[in-house]
Amino acid sequence: MADNNPWTRAKKQLQTAASNFPIDPLLLARLEHPDRIVEVSVPVKMDDGSIHVYQGFRVQHNNILGPYKGGLRYHPRVDMDEVKALAFWMTMKNAIIGVPFGGGKGGVNVDPKELSERELERLTREFGRKLTPVIGPNLDVPAPDVNTNGKIMTWILEEYIQKIKSQKSKVKNENPEAVITGKPLERGGSLGRPEATGLGGCYALLSILKMQKRKPEGLTVAIQGFGNVGSFLAQYLEEAGMKVVALSDSKGGIYMPAGIPSIREVQKCKDKSGKLAGCYCIGSVCDISNMKKLGGKEISPEKILELPVDVLVPAALENALTKENAKKVKASVVLELANGPTTAEADEIFRSAGVTVIPDVLANSGGVAVSYFEWYQNMHRERWSQDKVFKKLKEKMESACEDVHDISAEHKIPLREAAYVRALKSLSSKNNGKPKGRNKKRR
Ligand code: GLU
Repeated sequence: MADNNPWTRAKKQLQTAASNFPIDPLLLARLEHPDRIVEVSVPVKMDDGSIHVYQGFRVQHNNILGPYKGGLRYHPRVDMDEVKALAFWMTMKNAIIGVPFGGGKGGVNVDPKELSERELERLTREFGRKLTPVIGPNLDVPAPDVNTNGKIMTWILEEYIQKIKSQKSKVKNENPEAVITGKPLERGGSLGRPEATGLGGCYALLSILKMQKRKPEGLTVAIQGFGNVGSFLAQYLEEAGMKVVALSDSKGGIYMPAGIPSIREVQKCKDKSGKLAGCYCIGSVCDISNMKKLGGKEISPEKILELPVDVLVPAALENALTKENAKKVKASVVLELANGPTTAEADEIFRSAGVTVIPDVLANSGGVAVSYFEWYQNMHRERWSQDKVFKKLKEKMESACEDVHDISAEHKIPLREAAYVRALKSLSSKNNGKPKGRNKKRR
């Protein structure tokens, strides 16, 4: 189904946006075709002695605004078209949130849950060695994404440092730690990076609601996806006075129409049991036997999308919202914390139904915004407090949301198209500007 091919969809989104904005045809061509595509083989010796060869990808979509930037994901469904779309969305996202980065993305077609820790490390280090020639603090800066984390980033960083030691010219004046973001604190990571995507999503939602003159207090929310992003978002929305009523992960979910009493306790329960289903908590006691008392119900990750709530948050994978289930969505706001969770047909259904879709490239850009802060701290050998990081994140999210909302109101176009117009504006002005160094005095 072409509709579900993310790269086909991404190009369609670009063309729609280009019809709203006078874009240089050469720039359009550049955005329709990634700058560079890297495909590598990742042979791994498994614990039983057998050899398995995985496929690794890195797409460097565009670097008009700065070094390529975007995550690395580990998932059995990773393929070139998915990575191209995700890299393109990074170009757009970075332009929208206003960080000096281009767009890139990568991954390996592996289910990390089926690997032992040692296998995961061997796979990652091999992938890291294969990526080393094409990454660098001023060239391409990867980060975590689906199923990857600070530990995986550290292995890649170590392989990078190891390799470049022998090529001294490449590291001159550069802090090699800046080659990757989303690192643990002790490896040069930034305070606030783990919270960033969820917190940024919360700022985006509050800011759009404010412009719609709606109060957040009491609004009900359902979140599909309770990994790093979904769990922080849930906590921040709870703090903002919203009522989180349903949560799901890949295995199942919990639904309490009156509101989930404490997201933190649910988080602890999931950490302990490895799954969300059954995490019905009264105080710190979490058990399925509490379900009835709390008026709770079991809910599947699919059915959570159709609940009668005010705000629906797809925070898992692509293509969660399709033409089949979009008609059944009752929320008036969809906050896209996953990348590409809404197919083109579902988007159309939301548009005609008047549902406000806060698009991925805006809603989840808090992650890369704080990645930029991390990169900046590494490059300038600084250390920022968490308060400073959160304050700067809030400013960035609010200013991007205001701009996108204004463009949307002025041109009477949905927020997604408006976000793309904002991106095209900044890509165009940089593209038309003088090449770097032209302003310097010639000697
Ligand atoms: N993987 C995240 C995203 O899709 C973060 C990327 C980054 O920090 O570079 O936005």
